[in-house]
Amino acid sequence: MSLAVLYSRALSGMDAALVTVEVHLANGLPSFTIVGLPETEVKESKDRVRAALQNCQFEFPARRITVNLAPADLPKESGRFDLPIALGILAASGQIPANKLNEYEFAGELALTGELRPIRGALAMTYRAVNDGRAFMLPQANAAEAALVENATVYQASSLLQVAAHLAGREAMTPYSGEPQTLAPHYPDMGEVKGQTQAKRALEIAAAGGHSVLMVGPPGTGKSMLASRFPGILPQMTQREALESAAVQSLDGSFDLSRWKTRPYRSPHHTASGVALVGGGSNPRPGEVSMALHGVLFLDELPEFDRSVLEVLREPLESGRITISRAARRADFPAQFQLVAAMNPCPCGYLGHYNGKCRCTPDQISRYRSKISGPLLDRIDIQIEVPAVPQDDLFDKADGEPSTTLQARVETARQRQLTRQDKANAQLAVGEIDVMCAPDAQGEALLRQAITRLGLSARAYHRVLKVARTIADLENSPNIQSKHIAEAVQYRRMDKQI
Ligand SMILES: [Zn+2]
Repeated sequence: MSLAVLYSRALSGMDAALVTVEVHLANGLPSFTIVGLPETEVKESKDRVRAALQNCQFEFPARRITVNLAPADLPKESGRFDLPIALGILAASGQIPANKLNEYEFAGELALTGELRPIRGALAMTYRAVNDGRAFMLPQANAAEAALVENATVYQASSLLQVAAHLAGREAMTPYSGEPQTLAPHYPDMGEVKGQTQAKRALEIAAAGGHSVLMVGPPGTGKSMLASRFPGILPQMTQREALESAAVQSLDGSFDLSRWKTRPYRSPHHTASGVALVGGGSNPRPGEVSMALHGVLFLDELPEFDRSVLEVLREPLESGRITISRAARRADFPAQFQLVAAMNPCPCGYLGHYNGKCRCTPDQISRYRSKISGPLLDRIDIQIEVPAVPQDDLFDKADGEPSTTLQARVETARQRQLTRQDKANAQLAVGEIDVMCAPDAQGEALLRQAITRLGLSARAYHRVLKVARTIADLENSPNIQSKHIAEAVQYRRMDKQI
């Protein structure tokens, strides 16, 4: 046998396409050629494979070795193919049997000693391997995350020698078994935030309906504290959500088993670039919007973000996905997250504060606020003021409701939405809103009045209805009444001011 064929996976966005690794040995002057990898990575891969084989006391064939990674047009990072290339050379030169290779897929970067180093994207790759009915041979450090995939057969290998011994039938490895060690999700508690009853109420509504939120208030009023506690009042993650979220973290190489089923909370700094926020790079990596999948993206000091950076948020906010195009390559990442944003009311931050320090002119204030574009603001369902709390309130002994109480109400309200329409209220399309969120006659009249008074856009109008639907769901009211509309309208107050 001078030809060996093995399977591996390349990553393209969240997809992990099959890669065939063909290794052919021919007579002639000794050489080692790899086709299908970017040129810069070929040399490194060759050096690692050669050194690993030699250090494991295998024979490195003194023949013409050709490795072909097909198809040619997939994005490929060299490291992951070290293991299949090395095994292919062993099989093609008769040092291990080739008859069982097609039952597996292989991925792993080799150290010069033949040890296996972790790779990124193990979860996404295993997911596809299971569908194709093959087992996955992976570096030890990646086995636990890959085993989260249902029905997966995962082998955790520590070295090239171990894999070779298994394939040769000398020392059989047993598939990774047992439930991965996971902990119950843990979040900071909403009960620790004193006062701010109205803001907490708005966040409860946001959590129940999946609505995005903008908090406006002076520094030091607890906007960040509230935001970081928001994931803890969201409904518990489903198995599917947890797996999708873990798959994105795995692509980034940052998956941590102890955070299984914990809703992500991402808070990029306002100096973050567009690429950091939405993803990119020559082998496109997920950005913050994708890392926040099924969790919370917190943007503090919203007007300080570059306007062009904020504009790129519009696509994921509408569609829950982000498409990254780099040269000829396109990658698609999921980006369903709940946006929580915060900003000061004016450049100095103290407009309306009881300390009366603010000297900002109306002109400065409107310039500051206009940094957030109308279209982005339109996509934020709930806008609330988070005022400065007088000192007594801050030290009030009476704690607020704990997150568990809020979460229980949120969970019930969300369940009503799923039963009625199979999705959260925030995700209703315009046509569905007309059906699912029709207010009663009094509510309708009130809404018409408010539209004229506030000059709401058509998009804002639909958002009011969705939020009102959620408020009614929290009360278990099948009808949307005028009080629900009245509260929902309260959450569009910024429309008028900006
Ligand atoms: Zn000011």
